Amino acid sequence: MRKTIIAGNWKMNASKVSVKSLIDGILSGMEGVNSEVLVCVPFPYMSQVESLIEGSNLKLGAQNININPSGAFTGEVSADMIKDFGAKHVIAGHSERRSLYGETSSVVAEKTKAALGAGLSPLLCVGESLEQREAGKTETVVAEQINAVIELVGIESFDSIIIAYEPVWAIGTGITATPEQAQAVHFFIRNLLGESSENIAQKTPILYGGSMNAGNAVELISCPDIDGGLIGGAALKAEDFLQICKAG
Ligand code: PEP
Repeated sequence: MRKTIIAGNWKMNASKVSVKSLIDGILSGMEGVNSEVLVCVPFPYMSQVESLIEGSNLKLGAQNININPSGAFTGEVSADMIKDFGAKHVIAGHSERRSLYGETSSVVAEKTKAALGAGLSPLLCVGESLEQREAGKTETVVAEQINAVIELVGIESFDSIIIAYEPVWAIGTGITATPEQAQAVHFFIRNLLGESSENIAQKTPILYGGSMNAGNAVELISCPDIDGGLIGGAALKAEDFLQICKAG
């Protein structure tokens, strides 16, 4: 039985004041939440969040890492560094990083490997653009993104990997994939994993991301292969985020 996971991705939105009120708000409403809940925060606020969540069930994640463990990489942050600040997770391959920073599937696979090497559980993001969907290439795109990771780290490493299916056309647009559209791709991903290991396929959490909110979360999460959500905009308001957390 897979546990529901709700992950917040704050992107580049935070201040010391907003972080305190958002985390306090989330923590004050966690009673009755059965899902596993984590927040992926901007680097400068990791220490603050680490302190605020101490002793709670809320888990900390980062949004990106460099593939190298240390060295002359000005401006970069390693997997061990975020682990040092209490991170348990890191996002790898968010579509904004693939499209705005040119991260290819092989770079994303390297980042996934670096995260695993530091004992972190990566959230591996995959998903097609609108153009790719309309051209009937959704499965080809998603398979290429996942196969790059399987080839580098091996299927057994998916024991520690969370997949997030995020159709690019649904991220931050207010357009959500229908439960049928999302379930179809989640089912495809689970079968793809199953070609290498049925055990891993059944165990791997596959989250949906793309304009998930308090109003559509229950319907999406009740699909058989949707194990939770990766939430952007709606993760910035404690009340909305908590409602999604309670949908699981
Ligand atoms: C995301 O950033 O991963 C995301 C899904 O954003 P939003 O919920 O705002 O669409």
